[in-house]
Amino acid sequence: MNRDGARKSVWQDQVKSFSVTHPQASAYDVIVIGGGITGVSTALALQKAGKRCLLVEAANIAFGTSGGTTAHLNDFFDTSFAQAIKDFGLEKAKLFAQAGKDAMKIIQNNVKAYGINCDFEEKNAQLFAVDDKQADELDEMVKAAAQVHYQMKYISSINFPITFKKAVEISGQAQFHPLKYIKALAEEYISLGGIIFEGCICTNHEEHKDSIWVETSKGKFTAKQLVYATHIPHGINKLHFTNAPYRSYVLACTLTNGAYPDMLGYDLYDPYHYYRTHAVNGVKLLIAGGEDHKTGHANDTGECFSNLENYIRSHFNVDKVMYSWSSQYYEPVDGFPYIGVLPGSNGNVFVATGFRGNGMMFGSLSSKIISDLILKGSSSYEELFSPARIKPVAGFTQFVREQTTVVTDFIKDKFFTERIESFAAVDPGNAKVVKYENENYAVYKEINGKTHILKSTCPHAKCEVRWNSAEISWDCPCHGSRFNVNGNLLTAPAVNGLQKINEDDV
Ligand SMILES: Cc1cc2nc3c(=O)[nH]c(=O)nc-3n(C[C@H](O)[C@H](O)[C@H](O)COP(=O)(O)OP(=O)(O)OC[C@H]3O[C@@H](n4cnc5c(N)ncnc54)[C@H](O)[C@@H]3O)c2cc1C
Repeated sequence: MNRDGARKSVWQDQVKSFSVTHPQASAYDVIVIGGGITGVSTALALQKAGKRCLLVEAANIAFGTSGGTTAHLNDFFDTSFAQAIKDFGLEKAKLFAQAGKDAMKIIQNNVKAYGINCDFEEKNAQLFAVDDKQADELDEMVKAAAQVHYQMKYISSINFPITFKKAVEISGQAQFHPLKYIKALAEEYISLGGIIFEGCICTNHEEHKDSIWVETSKGKFTAKQLVYATHIPHGINKLHFTNAPYRSYVLACTLTNGAYPDMLGYDLYDPYHYYRTHAVNGVKLLIAGGEDHKTGHANDTGECFSNLENYIRSHFNVDKVMYSWSSQYYEPVDGFPYIGVLPGSNGNVFVATGFRGNGMMFGSLSSKIISDLILKGSSSYEELFSPARIKPVAGFTQFVREQTTVVTDFIKDKFFTERIESFAAVDPGNAKVVKYENENYAVYKEINGKTHILKSTCPHAKCEVRWNSAEISWDCPCHGSRFNVNGNLLTAPAVNGLQKINEDDV
């Protein structure tokens, strides 16, 4: 399956694209936009419940972050229970803990009910503190976990070759092969009569009294309900100011000593490193990730891979790095995902975003929350994860900080390009945003000298894109839209590409 990056993830080799169906009708009960874990799980849940669904995907199933994930299935989240209690109170933190249990159950039930062969394995997880500061943080996490009745057990040794101060083990976690799982769900959905339309981008929707009109690159469709499972919705609304795009880096390698950890592992750095083992085509691989940064905020994304590899080599006996890739996720300003009714809509348009590094779980949970909202009119998570919620005052500083980063990117990026003087500064194999006669251009020169020139302004919210050398893409730091060197759209929320310029036109 293809992915929205130049580098292959470990999952892509094993799962080939499959023929999907083409819509015969133009009217449906529900249209789901986006074919990642969120969209496919939601479409299946609704189709199974008797709704006639159309799933519209801009590229192919699992083209987005679901094809570049690491697929830990952990029910403790990037937002710790300590943070959740502090910002949302004990009762809401308990519901947050329940969300993890429910998400895990959804995945387990799907694997069982559909007999999915996706290398699903239950695993324990270990969280380890490597210095005093992390040890204090871990103590706080364990105390808060007990308050929400979540079990973390102190241990005196860990299954990772890393010196640590304190560590805990958590049982009942899991891992799987994300593409095998998503493909199986998509096939099940099709077998129930669901329709998947690949290579079709949703560009807009209009809400009318009895239906929603959905405009796509392949024509207009109507539905009673619409679900944006696009990782971030298109257009510009509240969610583009309460979510910030981040990039994380992963490598999969063989080890010379065969000492592959048999658990999920995490340190407590910020950003943290995450570890697991997976056998691909009979070869065991250590899959390790980290080096996260805000999209567009690393000068050299290639260096992020070197830093990650150096760090992993300093602890593990790495033989060969077989795969390395990076992918994008969204950080919500208050730490909880946004799942439910799209703010500003009439109640029939739904959205799921802000998953941090836990979207396998929250994407799966979204299928339950959104289908409950559509089928029953309510969900026990409706208020907790409401996309329209206002952040509690306790975490307001963080809200302002994130918000400020997004807003200043709008302004600062106009000046970012001022520093770049002329096209001559772009060497073969490199890329830059350059200013030329008061216009900004994204210029990429291939090794053979062929130059690709695009207008560098992102069509979504008019920020200036920045070069991502690791994935050979132009990335927008404001909301995470991404484009290839020809200007074609790779990642939402934009729905159009960057304007292509012939060298002669400039
Ligand atoms: C490196 C990395 C590691 C991670 N590891 C983990 C992990 O171990 N465990 C975990 O739980 N989570 C993890 N996550 C997070 C998780 O992978 C994501 O949150 C999850 O995959 C998001 O799924 P999604 O279906 O919501 O979005 P996506 O998978 O991004 O799917 C969205 C789809 O929508 C399509 N689309 C977008 N716009 C349009 C449009 N206008 N019209 C039609 N289609 C459109 C895209 O092409 C795409 O296919 C990780 C994230 C990263 C970056």
